[in-house]
Amino acid sequence: MALLVQKFGGTSVGSIERIEAVAERVIQTRQLGHKVVVVLSAMSGETNRLLGLAKQIDEVPTPRELDVLLTAGEQVSIALLAMALNKRGFNAVSMTADQVTIRTDNAFNNANIISIDTDKLESQLDQGKIVVVAGFQGRDSDNNITTLGRGGSDTTAVAVAGALKADECQIFTDVDGVYTTDPRIVPAALRLPEIHFDHMQTMAACGAKVLQLQSVEYAQMHQVPLRVLSSFEDGEGTLVTFNTQYSSQVVGIAVQRSQALIEIAQSMDALQQQLELFGLRFWMVANTAQSAQIVVAIDDLPRLRLVFDNKMRHISDVATLSMVGDNVMTVTDAVTTALNNTNIQVHHNKQITDCVSLLIDETDHQVAMETIHRDFVNSQEILGNPSLLAVS
Ligand code: ADP
Ligand code: ASP
Ligand code: MG
Repeated sequence: MALLVQKFGGTSVGSIERIEAVAERVIQTRQLGHKVVVVLSAMSGETNRLLGLAKQIDEVPTPRELDVLLTAGEQVSIALLAMALNKRGFNAVSMTADQVTIRTDNAFNNANIISIDTDKLESQLDQGKIVVVAGFQGRDSDNNITTLGRGGSDTTAVAVAGALKADECQIFTDVDGVYTTDPRIVPAALRLPEIHFDHMQTMAACGAKVLQLQSVEYAQMHQVPLRVLSSFEDGEGTLVTFNTQYSSQVVGIAVQRSQALIEIAQSMDALQQQLELFGLRFWMVANTAQSAQIVVAIDDLPRLRLVFDNKMRHISDVATLSMVGDNVMTVTDAVTTALNNTNIQVHHNKQITDCVSLLIDETDHQVAMETIHRDFVNSQEILGNPSLLAVS
């Protein structure tokens, strides 16, 4: 008998029919004799709907109150799934983060899990119940409700799996694994049977939202076995692992869309301090003594406007395209040339050990991804087992 944590994302619980299908899948696992903890997201679109309500009141809502609001979505889905399981004769209980005792720091909207008390979870499992836990939420030391950042249910699942020493944390989603790039943008993308933790971490940090970055970091640090699977069809999915037989120059391409290139009339030192105080992710692309050009998420612009107001200029909408792989730096020039040949301008690039990021116009992202995927991912020899990835 194994102990499995199974997480289902928004699309997988997006309607009553889908919740019923999740119930059937969980029951299959239970009938194989395994103990199951399920972690759920809110039904698809629900968190955005709640966020939209908040923004009708205040473009920059009070962070504490936003977390009270947003956690409502997961409370709906866990109750519905527990009902669907009970109706089928399986004893299930839903639990909020407070009921489980998932403690976080007090960074509202982007909190980090500090500890998970396993007593209550274990006691429910020992009674033979399927436990359905609300993802994305926690409580800080003052008992305030917190959330773990967008996509945070992945992190709840991995942290619960780590705390319970589960045999595997299975992330069920609307694609059947981790691909060489987002298969919704590049249909020629290939599913990776395995991906190294380091590469998965870099892909997630660069925008591959199939796993939230913190969930990968947590799994890597606590050695939680992690697999990405489809909610809709059977398959092996992708194992995120420390040992992989697959190696290639460019493992994958991640894209970060909805970014803005902005200029702020302020010296870099002062600006950097303020941005770090906000906990805001940014890419510095140029600076002079009087001003700096940075790339930030479009969603962060209202907060920045509150502080910088008329010192700030929105230059253009951009996307960041990141190639991930051990020897990826060796192809930077060739990639830039290939993009220039398709009339795509690379405004800036930055390189870290296993990643090269290119700044391009938002409108170019799809052609750029298709070009790089065709010329630099799909065409390379994948060492270990070339047939599995069907490379040409
Ligand atoms: P969930 O609601 O299940 O958490 P997400 O929307 O957060 O699902 O993540 C799944 C989505 O991630 C896919 O639909 C796909 O568009 C996107 N994605 C981005 N990069 C990748 C990648 N490299 N492999 C697979 N999916 C990816
Ligand atoms: N419901 C939250 C979100 O939409 C958390 C999650 O889906 O993982 O970001
Ligand atoms: Mg997600």
